Amino acid sequence: MELKIIVAVDGHASCGKSTLARQLAKRLGYTYIDSGAMYRAVTLYLLDNHIDFRDKPQLLDALKHITITFRYNPDTGIPETMLNGKAVEEEIRSMRISNEVSPVSADKDVRAFLVSQQQEMGKKKGITMDGRDIGTVVFPHAELKIFLTSDEHVRAQRRFEELQAKGMSVTMEEVVHNLESRDYEDSHRVASPLYKAGDAVELDNTHLTEDQQLEFAYNLVKEKISELEKSVKI
Ligand code: C5P
Repeated sequence: MELKIIVAVDGHASCGKSTLARQLAKRLGYTYIDSGAMYRAVTLYLLDNHIDFRDKPQLLDALKHITITFRYNPDTGIPETMLNGKAVEEEIRSMRISNEVSPVSADKDVRAFLVSQQQEMGKKKGITMDGRDIGTVVFPHAELKIFLTSDEHVRAQRRFEELQAKGMSVTMEEVVHNLESRDYEDSHRVASPLYKAGDAVELDNTHLTEDQQLEFAYNLVKEKISELEKSVKI
């Protein structure tokens, strides 16, 4: 049986990380985990329950009541996020959550809560996970790390079209503002800021189709596996 590895995909907002990590997992027969969905689900719980994450005792108590799981939807081929057993995939993608998720994600207790669950999910390898700190903090020893980049206008256009297709009412200005502020906050926070791991492969997908970026990443995985298998045999 082929050796299984961990693939970490990091990068700024809306540069196609989830699409790549999901398609790669499908092609490899791996598990795919969207770590951003977990931060979004925590944010949804806090907002719905009127909990201010800056109030530490309240936050720590709230985290005890949060269970996040994923349920595969065979119709869409997408794992859907479940918060305490309830499907929240649509809700967590709304601007209401996008506008609040970065400050919540900067909290070190929120991060510790989610990072330990993410690390548990990777114990058996055979996983692709996308986010901001996957190659730097969650899996610093991941066999393959990809840092995805994309032109900011292309990213904004993609996110705008995605939200419109879902019937969400949003303006291009709101999308641009949200991406800019999240990128700034995610890169400048004290706890696990977004940056490219020294050993990550940078992939700019501005001029690539989804199929082309998938092919590129798939080849990287195959090369890595054959390199590791050779070193095991020696
Ligand atoms: O990936 P997505 O854009 O859905 O992530 C939403 C937010 O969750 C990010 O803007 C960031 O604040 C936070 N996040 C994080 N660490 C991760 C994944 C997401 O801080 N590993």
